[in-house]
Amino acid sequence: MTDQNPVFIPGPTNMPDRLRRAIQIQTRDHRAPDFVDTFAPVLEDTKKVFGSTEGKIITFPASGTGGWEAAVTNTLSPGDKILVGRYGVFSNKWIDLCQRHGLDVQIVETPWGEGVPADKFAEILAADTAHEIKAVLTTHNETATGVRSDIAAVRRALDGADHPAMLFVDCVSSLASMPFEFDAWGVDIAVSGSQKGFMLPTGMAILCVSPKALAAIETAGLSRTFFDFRDMMKANATGGFPYTPPLQLIYGLRESLDMLFEEGLENVYARHFRLAEGVRRAVDAWGMKLVAKSPDLYSDTVSAVYVPEGFDSNALTDHAYRAYKVSFGVGLGQLDGKAFRIGHLGSLTDVMVLSGLATIEMAMADLNYPITLGSGVAAAQEYYRTSRVAALKSA
Ligand code: PLP
Repeated sequence: MTDQNPVFIPGPTNMPDRLRRAIQIQTRDHRAPDFVDTFAPVLEDTKKVFGSTEGKIITFPASGTGGWEAAVTNTLSPGDKILVGRYGVFSNKWIDLCQRHGLDVQIVETPWGEGVPADKFAEILAADTAHEIKAVLTTHNETATGVRSDIAAVRRALDGADHPAMLFVDCVSSLASMPFEFDAWGVDIAVSGSQKGFMLPTGMAILCVSPKALAAIETAGLSRTFFDFRDMMKANATGGFPYTPPLQLIYGLRESLDMLFEEGLENVYARHFRLAEGVRRAVDAWGMKLVAKSPDLYSDTVSAVYVPEGFDSNALTDHAYRAYKVSFGVGLGQLDGKAFRIGHLGSLTDVMVLSGLATIEMAMADLNYPITLGSGVAAAQEYYRTSRVAALKSA
């Protein structure tokens, strides 16, 4: 029998059968006159997941990286100054993309394990009285470190300095799993993708764009063709696409939205918190430490866990895969060899997470980690059990 274990990588995530069936459809004509009846409501409903009524949803056949490029090239000009914190692999990759586009990137170096340096941003923005900074870029959930940043604090930094810079947020590994408030946080562009909280295959970059960012297109001097927001919006207005759309993914997104709304977004967020909290209890029981430095920074979609001194986290994830056919996230960048990651987002239940914790415990025991077999699973069981029972009682 082939092994069919869930993955515990922080995306792409496990696909529920319902979504596998939804994308398993015969080709349909994207130029058919009634395609608009499918596509327009998908765009409208996606806004709810971003927490927006004012934004415009723009999608591209691309991964999240394409979404970063679309955000930047539609709104900025070569030489424009932007402000970014570097606190993990993904914030660093977005910085690299901006530098390669000839932007003048002011980087606030931030220790990994911390989140967006909003206080430092506040100082820099207040000092920028000439308003040279055109955009502030943040990664909501740094997938490499398992850190969730406080985007509302960045908005407060901008407002406190009365600064007009646009606010761009990467929510690739947080959207549809953790609360996101596009309108309330005053976000100008939020960038996500199909393969994490939406539980679909990779292939759709999904953006929410504010009226202010849309207005910036007219003066933005960076070049773009494939990612031009205007071509996409013009074609979308009549249900079309400027090129061939990822049709099956659009049908998949329809079904994914239905699943998220049936569960209820608040319940989706509560489930992710519960799954993550069980993992955190297990890590604590193993006597190990998260990379995220304090509870306010803990991500509910991915936990990065330091392995004890003298152990190699790559050997652990390799062994878990070879011996048990279960994938966990490897340590990235500075954390290569030092930490492994447990992805706990998307289509997952308490019981599935327990299986992942049991597996990584077996792998650790095989490699002589100083842990007691079953200790992490027991801690997570206790948390899942008691929180379930409490919820049943209060229902
Ligand atoms: N941003 C974050 C936070 C991510 O986790 C990822 C991928 O894991 C990306 C951006 C890049 O997205 P993609 O790999 O879909 O291009």
